[in-house]
Amino acid sequence: MKTKDIKKLVTELPQKITVLVAEDSLYIRKLIVRLLKQYGFTDVVEVENGKQAWEYFQKNKQRICLLILDWIMPEMDGLEVCRLIRNTNVEHYVYIIFLSVIKEKEEIARCLEAGADDYILKPIHAKEFYARITVGLRIIALEKMLQKTNRRLKKLATMDKLTDLFNRRALFRALEKDLYRAIREQKSFHNIMLDIDYFKKVNDTYGHQVGDAVLKELAQRLRNISRPYDVIGRYGGEEFLIGFINGDDKVAVEFAERLRESISQQPFIIGNLRLPITISLGVASFQPAGKINKTKIHELLGELIKKTDDALYEAKRQGRNRVVVDGDTIEV
Ligand code: GH3
Ligand code: MG
Ligand code: MG
Ligand code: MG
Repeated sequence: MKTKDIKKLVTELPQKITVLVAEDSLYIRKLIVRLLKQYGFTDVVEVENGKQAWEYFQKNKQRICLLILDWIMPEMDGLEVCRLIRNTNVEHYVYIIFLSVIKEKEEIARCLEAGADDYILKPIHAKEFYARITVGLRIIALEKMLQKTNRRLKKLATMDKLTDLFNRRALFRALEKDLYRAIREQKSFHNIMLDIDYFKKVNDTYGHQVGDAVLKELAQRLRNISRPYDVIGRYGGEEFLIGFINGDDKVAVEFAERLRESISQQPFIIGNLRLPITISLGVASFQPAGKINKTKIHELLGELIKKTDDALYEAKRQGRNRVVVDGDTIEV
């Protein structure tokens, strides 16, 4: 993490995050809001007691990153609000700054132990207030950067770089999950495996880069036809696998046919090339009958994929650019 990036984010955050100010004294509340606005914050929400703060937080917790909390307030005090927030699941960190006239060290320690990140003694001193806000923004910035890195790593670990579909590992994991769910809910689970016809010829004639562009475009077309909850991934080089729950053979074949047509009906435009591309597809399904042990899922999926692969092989054998279900051809 670069210091320069943290500094940049710290300066941008006041326009991006929501600050919640809970303070019962109107005078102090207005002073804090004014200071925050002067600092550059654009979204400042004010409430006048702890109960309102907790209620507002629960409804808007996704947006609130910074909380300025007075300790002594009617209805519910700041300490209670702080404890409640720290016991709530929030996807990001909420930075909590306490405000109080209480200066006993024991009490301040109690407050920090309850989950406060910082403590400002009243009366408010503008310069100190700004400095402490900046400390908070630094922590928030660090956490945001960490989350961004985590998202990037997760994407790298699960997505295929070329096609932006699930990679083989993530594909298997997602298929196993869906198969398990299908069994639990006693629903059918269908797999469609597809493979580009004579793809080697594309590479041999136009080069690997053109081949890659074809794979990219093909993935995009598959995505366009599929639903967001269909599992779809790159099984191997130019082979893709799609899994979905609760369809029957007719639905699955119609879906496979739509996929086939989405590729064969429009030539692929790669630079100034117009390439007619076709795919062959195999369809197979699993119909649950009774309960199945979780440890068996991996094995079951293996069997289903094998059946799907056999159907695909049959589609190739019968001449390509067609759909075969479990050995039975559907005429195209
Ligand atoms: P069939 O109709 O029987 O499927 O014939 P095919 O030529 O498509 O099959 P084959 O398995 O012989 O060739 C698949 C080719 O896919 C060979 C390999 O070079 C190519 N391929 C696999 N992965 C990639 C990739 O990431 N990029 C490119 N450009 N080509 C790839
Ligand atoms: Mg008060
Ligand atoms: Mg092929
Ligand atoms: Mg192949």
